[in-house]
Order: sequence, then structure tokens, then C-alpha cells
Amino acid sequence: MSETLIEVTDLKIHFFTDEGVVRAVDGSDLTVERGRTLSLVGESGCGKSVACRSLLQIVHTPGRIVSGEILYNRKSGNGLDEIIDIAKLDPKGKQIRDIRGKEISMIFQEPMTSLSPMYTVGNQIVENILLHTDKTKKEAHALAIELLDKVGIPKPGRLVEEYPFRLSGGMRQRAMIAMALSCNPTMLIADEPTTALDVTTQANILDLMLDLQRQYGMALLFITHDLGVVAEIADDVAVMYLGKIVEKSDVDTIFNNPQHPYTQALLRSIPKVATRREELDPIKGMVPNPYRRPEGCPFHPRCAKAFSECRTIVPSVTQLGENHTVQCLLYEDLSDKKAMEQSL
Ligand code: SF4
Repeated sequence: MSETLIEVTDLKIHFFTDEGVVRAVDGSDLTVERGRTLSLVGESGCGKSVACRSLLQIVHTPGRIVSGEILYNRKSGNGLDEIIDIAKLDPKGKQIRDIRGKEISMIFQEPMTSLSPMYTVGNQIVENILLHTDKTKKEAHALAIELLDKVGIPKPGRLVEEYPFRLSGGMRQRAMIAMALSCNPTMLIADEPTTALDVTTQANILDLMLDLQRQYGMALLFITHDLGVVAEIADDVAVMYLGKIVEKSDVDTIFNNPQHPYTQALLRSIPKVATRREELDPIKGMVPNPYRRPEGCPFHPRCAKAFSECRTIVPSVTQLGENHTVQCLLYEDLSDKKAMEQSL
């Protein structure tokens, strides 16, 4: 029986710029279960990374959480559950600093920009351990070497003294994973951690992450636009489009019985190994300009199944199965919404 670790409800994150307001996350719901892997998928610019950064209160300015809840089910020192709304915490306050990097860790797409070039890999891991635990410097240094060994870095005792620029992309990503795991987190957020890597290294890193997840029993929130990766690692999948979660379910349902036209189009666009030459079936059009979001369903300019109401009515969440939700007018009884529209 799984247990909810993070429950995100109606989260809205807006960026206030001179050109206007960008609704990067526009009323999203997400659930992360303890010990399971949730994949958040969607095209670049759909709000995946911003949504995940909000779980650590590290949304860049001029962005900020404008409404919604991020309920974190935290085990306190005496073993009792404590529910904290991360959305309400001060981004610089003690409570989120205790959680960030210790209970919830994050690894980023490009480790070179996340690791400081001024300090050795060992220094950076040791600093995180000293910040969040009561280990001595010597113990933290030994733990850093142990972690580098665990993530498959050869001669970890020597590499711990190296600067990040002396390492290959795959090694830097492994060092980032070691740092993220250094305080035994309950949840690891991985923001496209394998995108910058070649396929062989990518496969190694994915195997490593799944292996470490099993060992540590942590929840994994994995952001990607690669459905091949999703099929390999996810238990549950949330599909995001223009700041909204348009479909959510377990991985088998998403791949075998997708219901939202966007999910169906994403799956159709995966290149197939075929004996005959087949043309790719891309999703038509482009992701809309964030300053000019379409009215009604935000996917309607690109949707092959769009009908007239899609241009004016915003879809609500429809429950299709126990763990399967979709946001599309095809599954709604529109009589009430049409009547409301006519009365305006
Ligand atoms: Fe397509 Fe309409 Fe469903 Fe949007 S609401 S996904 S436009 S059918």
C-alpha cells in the first residue's frame, strides 16, 4: 500500500515580466508516493522544471508561487507524521533550508552549471553533509568517498580531490547524484539528468538511479521529454502541457490506453523501429507564445480532435479510473458549461 509523500493541489506559478505575466504553472495537481517513481513529461517550456523547483522553493525571480498547496508529509524526529505546506514557507527560512538538500534533493540537467568550478567535488559533497548532519569533517570526507564509489566512479579517493571541469559529463552527473544522496533523502527530483549525455552513459545513469532508489527506498520525481526513458523507469506518469497536468495515471495505462489527445500525439510521435520506411508523425504546430495563451483548452490550436467549444471552454479534471484523470472536453458533459457561457 503506497503512502502519499507530496500532494500538490491547484498550484499556480506566475512570472511577472515587463512584457506581461507568464502563467508557467496554471493550476496543476500532482501526487508523489513514497518509494515510487513519478515521471513528469511534456515538451520544453511546458512548466515541468518550474513546477519541480517550487517543491524546494527555488523558483527564480520574477517567478513566484501565487496560489495552491504543496503538502509534504514529513516524518518528524519522534516518528510521527507532520504535514508542511511548502508553498507557504519563506524561501530563505530555516524550515525549507532544513528540507532542501537533506530530505528533498535535486539533480539538474547540466551538472557543470550546478557544481561550483571553484571547489573540488569532495568539498562540495562534504559541505552538504556538514550542513545537514552532525558528522565530523573526517567522517563526511569518508562518506563522500563511499558515495562516489557507490555511484560507480573509479578511484573515488583520488577523484574526491578533483575540480568538476576535470571530469567528463557522465562523471559530473554521477558526482551530482552522489551529492544529492549524501543525506539519504526521502525524495529525489531529477530534472532531465540524462539529456546532455550520450545513450550509453544515459542507460548507465538510469540503471544507477533505479538501483539507488531501491537501496534507499526514496521517491523519485523524474522530469523528461523522452518517453523511452519514461517507459523504462516510471511507476506513474503525469503529462503536462502549458502549465497544466492534462493526463495522469500509472505507466501501463498511459502507454496502452492514453485518453488525452496530447498524450496520444506524444506517443504517436515516438520513432519506431520498422522494416518499412515510415514517416514520423510529429505534433503539428508549435508550443504557443507564453504571453498569448490560447483561450479555452490551451491545446486546441494543435489538437486533431478539437471542436468548436474547445476554443472557449476551459476543460476541468475528469476522473476516468481509480488513478486515471484527464483534462479534456471530450470526456465532459458540456451542458452546464454551455449554459453558463450563454448567460454571460
Ligand atoms: Fe483537444 Fe478539445 Fe480535448 Fe483540448 S478539450 S484536448 S482541444 S478535444
